[in-house]
Amino acid sequence: MVLQAKFYSGKIVFPGEKLCVLEEFMPGDGTFEINGNVYSKFVGRVLYDFVSRKVTVVPLKKVANIPKQGMVIYAVISTTKDDVAFTKIFGAEKGVSFSGTFTGILHVSQISSNYIKVVTDAVKVGDIVKAKVLTSWNPFQLTTKGTKLGVIYALCSKCGTPLIKKRTKLQCPKCGNVESRKISSDYMLSGGKRS
Ligand SMILES: [Zn+2]
Repeated sequence: MVLQAKFYSGKIVFPGEKLCVLEEFMPGDGTFEINGNVYSKFVGRVLYDFVSRKVTVVPLKKVANIPKQGMVIYAVISTTKDDVAFTKIFGAEKGVSFSGTFTGILHVSQISSNYIKVVTDAVKVGDIVKAKVLTSWNPFQLTTKGTKLGVIYALCSKCGTPLIKKRTKLQCPKCGNVESRKISSDYMLSGGKRS
């Protein structure tokens, strides 16, 4: 009776793993039966119900480890062309982290609801942007349209000091350089207190 020892709830099982024989438990959700043997359909937790004599497998909730359509993510601008910026997606809202680095593409038409002529008028290499994912495959199409989306952190292109938000522009507190970006309302450093 080797199987007897396995008759408890909560064990993680894998697809195709034998759970029991039909005489012991009837196949429930997340299981299938072949020739009197009951197997798991999913990676999940197995539950043996001794009252109904039924075995079920509850799929493990997938960790949000790849960007998904509609998700708000954080990305750093890695390269820019006139009409497109390439980004590295490194995380998402609510502390979600990804299992790898994914490429996000921000087309000039998706930066702002206002007309942007060239990408570098609105984002520059090294900027951190908050963006929404438009597609469910890699490379992920992004948009920064909307007040909460856009650049949340940027460095002065002359001296490398973090820029501070002043009204609709970003200003360098060190050299006074003023730069334009598609700024998020969540930009991390704002004027007033710091200057
Ligand atoms: Zn500067």
